[in-house]
Parts: sequence; structure tokens; C-alpha cells
Amino acid sequence: MSSERACMLCGIVLTTNDFSNDGCPNCQGIFEEAGVSAIECTSPSFEGLVGMCKPSKSWVAKWLSVDQNIPGMYAVKVDGRLPVEVVEVLPFYKPRDGSQVE
Ligand SMILES: [Zn+2]
Repeated sequence: MSSERACMLCGIVLTTNDFSNDGCPNCQGIFEEAGVSAIECTSPSFEGLVGMCKPSKSWVAKWLSVDQNIPGMYAVKVDGRLPVEVVEVLPFYKPRDGSQVE
């Protein structure tokens, strides 16, 4: 059993403790704006870990205020859905579980 979780928004993989203590290093501002905790926006079910050193081309960077996400391990696919509060502040959000929002 792993205590690692992946952020459903940017895909970064950290431990549960990291997310509960510090939130997501990339998305915390969005989660705070939405009024949700980082844990609610992470999933213990994810696949396809990739090391990302230069994620500045990431689609996520378009609506994050930073130029690039922090380097780290990112999941290609994260199961689960973000809380609706987060989706509402992200009009261009696409789920990372492979499904589409109608
Ligand atoms: Zn994130």
C-alpha cells in the first residue's frame, strides 16, 4: 500500500503528508480560490509516472500564474474527479482520467 497521491489537476505525485501539509506546489492557489483542500483534489489511483524536468509546455501552465510547474514526478493518468468548486474556477479543465465532460 502506498501513501502516494497524484494531483488531479497537474498530475504531480507526492505523499499524502505532503499534500495535507503544504498542498499542491502547482495548484494550491487554485484550490484556495475554490475553497477546497488539496487532499480533495488528489487521488490515490494513478498510472504512468513520468519524470518532468521542463514542464513549461504543459497545458496546465496556461492558466497557472507561473511559467512552469515544479520539476518532479507526474502521473500521466489520474483517476477521479475534481470537486465541482475547482472545475468552476477552471473553465478549460479537462479530466485527467481520460473521460470527457459533456
Ligand atoms: Zn496540482
